[in-house]
Amino acid sequence: MKTTVEISARHIHLTREDFKTLFGCEEPTIRNKLSLDYEYAANETVEVVGPEGRLLDVRVIGPLREKSQFELSMSHARVLGIDPPIKVSGESGGAKIKVVGPVGEILKNIAIVPKRHWHVSTNLAKKLRVKTGQNVAVQIKSKRSTIYYDIVTRVDDDFENHVHLDTDEGNAAGIEKNTSAELII
Ligand SMILES: [Zn+2]
Repeated sequence: MKTTVEISARHIHLTREDFKTLFGCEEPTIRNKLSLDYEYAANETVEVVGPEGRLLDVRVIGPLREKSQFELSMSHARVLGIDPPIKVSGESGGAKIKVVGPVGEILKNIAIVPKRHWHVSTNLAKKLRVKTGQNVAVQIKSKRSTIYYDIVTRVDDDFENHVHLDTDEGNAAGIEKNTSAELII
């Protein structure tokens, strides 16, 4: 089964309350739509500060959520000097960071390294007989061909057929635009 592999760069999801604290207004403004078309990259960015360093220009991903969450790679975690857990996006808990916006800041346990995952539509999942939470693998054919195991399946009507890796995983596997990949179920 062919699939598309996309790399998720570090980004932050915010609650309405946290967004207001950081930016002093109600809603982010849309910069561009993402491949999951209910999500968008906002024009707004924040600075994230840890005990040993900081990351500038961290993009806010909209729409606003029930829980704030900062998703980053292990390499960026080293820059900040934090040891975040590997979690599925949306799960609670994380390493403590300070988030700085133009009008305010928050200090919260919200930093995670997102577990690599496969977004698949309900229809395709049914056809392939896979369920949410099931682990699959993906074989990547590139200049640095590799197979990643432990890719967690996420099924939803709004999803299509995309594997999401973080920047460490994507760069290690030599992902480029249109790199071909094969799912192993
Ligand atoms: Zn994703």
